[in-house]
Amino acid sequence: MENLPDAVVYPGSKEEIERIVAFCHENSVPLYVYGGGSSVTRGVEAVCGGITLDLRRRFTKVISFNETDQTITVESGISGPDLEDALNRAPERFGAQRRYTCGHFPQSFEYSAVGGWVVTRGAGQNSTYYGNIKDIVLGQEYATPTGLVKTYGLPAHAVGPDLDEIMMGSEGAFGVLTHVTLRVFRYMPKNRRKFSYIFPSWEAARNAAREIMQSEAGHPSVFRLSDPEETDVMLKLYCVEGTPLGFVMSKLGYKRMQRCLLLGWTEGQRGFARNLRRVLGKIARQHKGFPLTGYPTKKWEHGRFRDPYLREALQDYGIIIDTMECGVRWDNMEAVHAGVRAFAKSRPRTICMTHLSHAYPQGANLYFIFIGRFESKEEFLEYQYGIFDNIQKYGASMSHHHGVGKLTSPWVKDSIGENQLEVFRALKHHFDPRNVMNPGGTVALDLPDEQTRRPRFAGRTWDDPAY
Ligand SMILES: Cc1cc2nc3c(=O)[nH]c(=O)nc-3n(C[C@H](O)[C@H](O)[C@H](O)COP(=O)(O)OP(=O)(O)OC[C@H]3O[C@@H](n4cnc5c(N)ncnc54)[C@H](O)[C@@H]3O)c2cc1C
Repeated sequence: MENLPDAVVYPGSKEEIERIVAFCHENSVPLYVYGGGSSVTRGVEAVCGGITLDLRRRFTKVISFNETDQTITVESGISGPDLEDALNRAPERFGAQRRYTCGHFPQSFEYSAVGGWVVTRGAGQNSTYYGNIKDIVLGQEYATPTGLVKTYGLPAHAVGPDLDEIMMGSEGAFGVLTHVTLRVFRYMPKNRRKFSYIFPSWEAARNAAREIMQSEAGHPSVFRLSDPEETDVMLKLYCVEGTPLGFVMSKLGYKRMQRCLLLGWTEGQRGFARNLRRVLGKIARQHKGFPLTGYPTKKWEHGRFRDPYLREALQDYGIIIDTMECGVRWDNMEAVHAGVRAFAKSRPRTICMTHLSHAYPQGANLYFIFIGRFESKEEFLEYQYGIFDNIQKYGASMSHHHGVGKLTSPWVKDSIGENQLEVFRALKHHFDPRNVMNPGGTVALDLPDEQTRRPRFAGRTWDDPAY
């Protein structure tokens, strides 16, 4: 076991958190925050020891629900399922007229908390319609070593830079997020219209996806396009291969390792969801998309929060599954996809599946999944770092929604530029002058200069043209 804190504290109120932050500042004790603990970027590792605040037990209450404004204010340790349950049952819980949804469903929904979503700038699987968490947050309160920060909580303002944006992405390194006010949405699952299409090629599918996002017909909710390698795996996993649907697909010339699967659903007001579904189908057909019914989407939905945990079982057999996600524009999407894939596949017997999700009119998130058997930790890290290098090399962001944590911080300076990193560091110095909040490399804020370059390993184990 490594990177454990010396003590774990379970605060039950905002005031208790404020006192703990003040204590750590006065005594220079490192302070880490544990939300749901689902960070995949080493965010919660207490690399300097000290205290970890675990918010899951006693800091999970709903503070207020406002149906007039359609907002909810909560303690930041509330879990995804508890928040969604409160909103779905708003008439029973708060005497509301309607049922509501939070609209934010990361794949880690069941094991993550609102505070973690906000400070890592997360994105849920339905973000193409509801927005990323940064679009859903209306107001925040932080306990920082130099005092309290409370943002306006208004839908818009023009009073200087946006403090909400400044705090989102701080990953526990500026202070502890205590209370959050979120926008909420009317809950109308019956209006959902599922779809799935198969396209003859990655290019045709990408063009269709872009056209859908730019059509001005509105945005679908779940919107997920798999590249050829992932498509073949999904068609097997979702039992489409071997069915009449699979047979028709092959007869029509949708070939293995070329065809691409687009799936998702539209939602919102009934007429809107239906019309968008219709427009989307028309665009898909114009790009040689063939409808596969809502069946693959149903299968995906069934495992949407559970499938990734297969990786824990596979680790017992020495097989590692890792993921990396990045923000891209439409015009450099193919360069990023091809470049990262060329590196990933240069290692023998390694699977590299990619999908596009969280789409915008100007681009999307590309999500890479790597599966392979690795002989040692060093071999795995060498491979992982090569992926990061290539993401940076082809101009994508180092993260679209997982955040930086302590994992990709050595790539941050080259990725965003020295001047921008200095802005982040000036903010860190303002909020946390003694560096007690999440110290040890978070978002490169306290990395010494010599560590702001990616670590290198001696001895490589496979050919890599990208170096
Ligand atoms: C299987 C799997 C699937 C995932 N899918 C997605 C996905 O679809 N979308 C997505 O966005 N992410 C995803 N993630 C990444 C992760 O779940 C998100 O980053 C999530 O938002 C983290 O929330 P958490 O509550 O678990 O935070 P934690 O892991 O507890 O913490 C994350 C970081 O935030 C800090 N932090 C947490 N709470 C607070 C607080 N109240 N105040 C200050 N700092 C705080 C921690 O110190 C840490 O640095 C996935 C992770 C896994 C394991």
